[in-house]
Amino acid sequence: MELKKLAISEKKRQALVTMGIDSVEALLTHYPFRYEVVEETPLSSWEKDGKVTLEGVIVNRARVVRYAPKRSVTRFQIVCQNKLFEVSLFNRPWISAFQTGKTITLMGKYEGGNRITAASYNFQPLHEQEGIKPVYALKEGITQNDLARYVKKAFQVLPHQENRIPDELIAHYRLISRDQALHEVHAPTSSAMLKQAFRHLKYEEFFLFQLVMQGLRKNDHAHGDKPRKQFEQDEVWELTRTLPFALTKDQKTCIQDILDDLQSSASMYRMVQGDVGSGKTMVAAFAMYACVLAHKQAAFMAPTEILAKQHAENLKRLFQDYEVEVEVLYSALKGKEKQRILERLVHHEIDIIVGTHALFQEDVYFYDLGLVIADEQHRFGVEQRKKLLQKGDKVDFLLMSATPIPRTLAMSLFGDMDVSTIEVLPQGRKAIITKVVKENSMRSILEEVLAHLDQGDQCYIVCPAIEKNEDYAMRNASDLYEALKESIGRVYQIGLLHGKMSSAQKDEVMQAFQRGDYQILVSTTVIEVGVDVKNANLMVIYDANRFGLSQIHQLRGRVGRGDRQGYCWLLSDSKDVDAQARLQILEETCNGFEIARRDLALRGPGDILGTRQSGVPGFILGDIIADSNILEVARKDAGIVLKQMETGAYPALKRYLDTHLREAQCFD
Ligand code: ADP
Ligand code: MG
Repeated sequence: MELKKLAISEKKRQALVTMGIDSVEALLTHYPFRYEVVEETPLSSWEKDGKVTLEGVIVNRARVVRYAPKRSVTRFQIVCQNKLFEVSLFNRPWISAFQTGKTITLMGKYEGGNRITAASYNFQPLHEQEGIKPVYALKEGITQNDLARYVKKAFQVLPHQENRIPDELIAHYRLISRDQALHEVHAPTSSAMLKQAFRHLKYEEFFLFQLVMQGLRKNDHAHGDKPRKQFEQDEVWELTRTLPFALTKDQKTCIQDILDDLQSSASMYRMVQGDVGSGKTMVAAFAMYACVLAHKQAAFMAPTEILAKQHAENLKRLFQDYEVEVEVLYSALKGKEKQRILERLVHHEIDIIVGTHALFQEDVYFYDLGLVIADEQHRFGVEQRKKLLQKGDKVDFLLMSATPIPRTLAMSLFGDMDVSTIEVLPQGRKAIITKVVKENSMRSILEEVLAHLDQGDQCYIVCPAIEKNEDYAMRNASDLYEALKESIGRVYQIGLLHGKMSSAQKDEVMQAFQRGDYQILVSTTVIEVGVDVKNANLMVIYDANRFGLSQIHQLRGRVGRGDRQGYCWLLSDSKDVDAQARLQILEETCNGFEIARRDLALRGPGDILGTRQSGVPGFILGDIIADSNILEVARKDAGIVLKQMETGAYPALKRYLDTHLREAQCFD
C-alpha cells in the first residue's frame, strides 16, 4: 500500500523513501533497532554507580552553580520512597522548572550516599512511562516520534497482517501470528512477548529468503537439461604436467568436484572458498580448460582491471603450448581494439575471456558460453545472475571467494549453492609477520622498512583515502606520496596508485612496480585483491582500524607470495580499546577462517560480507551467526515447502515466490 494513504507530508515521505521505506508494509517491517526498558528501580536494588529510574517530590529550592562557561550543575533535593536524596543535574541551569512540591521522574546514576546524578528528567508520572520502548534507526528529517506516529497510522490502515509462513509451521514451532508479532515489535507488551515476536519474524525472514534462493536454483534446473560437457577428465589432469609445482590435495579435490559438475546435466552453482594464497586461480584454470576441451567458451570475471589483466597474463603463460586462446576485456578498452575482441568472441576465436563486469555488458555476445567464473567477489547477487542468464542458458557457474565463512553457513546463505573449500595452503608458504603499531606514523618502523628495501624487498603502503578532501581524519595516499618523495625520494623510487587514476596510468604504475622500478608503492585499497608481485614482501597500512579484519587479511595476502618472509605493519592511533583488540587478532593468526569467524563475532555479518552491494542478503533481524540454528531449520523447511508447492499447496506463498522469482529473472 502506498505511503500516501497515511497522510504524511511530502517532505517527510521523501525522507522515509531515502530510508528505504516506500510503502505502508515497509513501514511495518522497519523494525526498531533496540529497545529501552523504562521501569522504576526498587530502592532495595539501588547500587553505587548503578542506573536508576525513579519518581520523587522536590522538597527544596534548586540552586545552580556555574563552574565554567556553559558548564553548570543544578542541585535540589527530593523525597523518594520516604527517603531524602540530593539530585545533581548538569548543564540545565533553569531553576524555575524545579519547583518545590512538584513530582518529577528522573533517570540517571546512583552515586551512593543518597546522591543521584540525573541524566534526564520529565514531569510525567513514571507509571505512565513504564514499559519497553522501541528505538528506531533514523535519518535526517525523521524523528523517533514521527516514526512512532506513522507506525500507529500504518496499523490503522492495515489492521490485520496475514501470516506468510504456512500455518502448519507456525503450529509446529508454536509461533505467535505475524499480526501479533508485528504489533509486539513496535509496541511490546512484555519482554517475553517481544521474544516471541522475534522468533516469528526471524524465522519468517530466513524462511522466505531460503524459499526464493532455492526457488531460483530449482528454476535453473527446471529449464531443461544442461548439455553435459564432453571432455576426458584425464586430458584435463594432463595440465598438471606444465606446472612448476604439485597441486595441493584440496586443490585436487576442488577440481574433481568441478569436473564432475561440468559433466553432469544439472547446471553447476558452486563456490570455491579458500584463504588468500591458497591457489584458487589454478582451480579456475583447470575448470576453464575442461570447458574449452568441451568446445565451449569460458568467462573469468575479476573485480578490478588490474586483476583481470594479471589473470589474463598468467593464463596466457599457462596455456602457451596449448591451443587455447585467451583474451582480456575491460571497460576502458575502446574503439577498434574492443570491436576486434567482440568479433573474435562471437566467432569463437577466443576460448577464454577474462575481464571485469564489462563482460556482462549488452554488446558482448558469446559464440557458446559454457562456464562463468567470478573471482574474489561475493558481490554476485540477483542482479548479476540476471545478466548472466542473458548470456547463455545453461551456463555453469563458479564463484571464487577468499572471504571464508563456515561451510554450513555458506550453504544456508546461498540457498543450495555447493561449496568446495581449500583449507591447506601450498607448502613452504610462510605466515606473514604482522605487528600492530600504536600510532598512525611510520616513525618507529621506518628504519626497519628501509633496511628490508636495501635487501631488495618492495613495500606497499596502503592509505584509506586518495586525497585530502575526503575526510581530514584519514591518511591520504597523495599527500603521503609527496611527503615520502620529499624525505626519502632521492634514495628510493616511489610510485603512487589509486582508483581515480585512468586505467592506463594504473596499469603503467603496477607494471613498473612488478618490474621492480619502484621500491615503494603508495596506494589505496585498489591493490586489495589478487595482485601478485613476488618481491613485495612488506606492507604498511595506515589507519588500520578503519578497515575490516578480513579486508586487511586480504590486503596483507599481497605480500610474502615468493619464498621470502613477508611483513605487515598495522598503524593505528585509535583510542578505541575494541579497535585495538580487533587488530591484535591479525597479529595472532594468519588463518583467514579464524579471522573471519572472530570478526563476524565482533562486528556482525553486515560489514564483513559487504552486505550492501553484495548478493548476501542483509537480514534485518536474524543474525546469521547467533541464529544459525533457525537459519538451518528454515533452510530445510523451505526445501520441503517448495516441493509441496509443486502439487498446488500453499497458493498464497506460491504467488509471493513467483513475484520474487520474476523480479530476479525478468529480462527487462
Ligand atoms: P588465491 O587463492 O589467493 O587466488 P592464487 O591463485 O593467486 O591465490 O595463488 C597464489 C600463488 O600461489 C600464485 O603465485 C600461484 O602460482 C601459487 N600456487 C598456486 N597453487 C600452488 C601450489 N599447489 N603450490 C605452490 N604454489 C602454488
Ligand atoms: Mg585470487
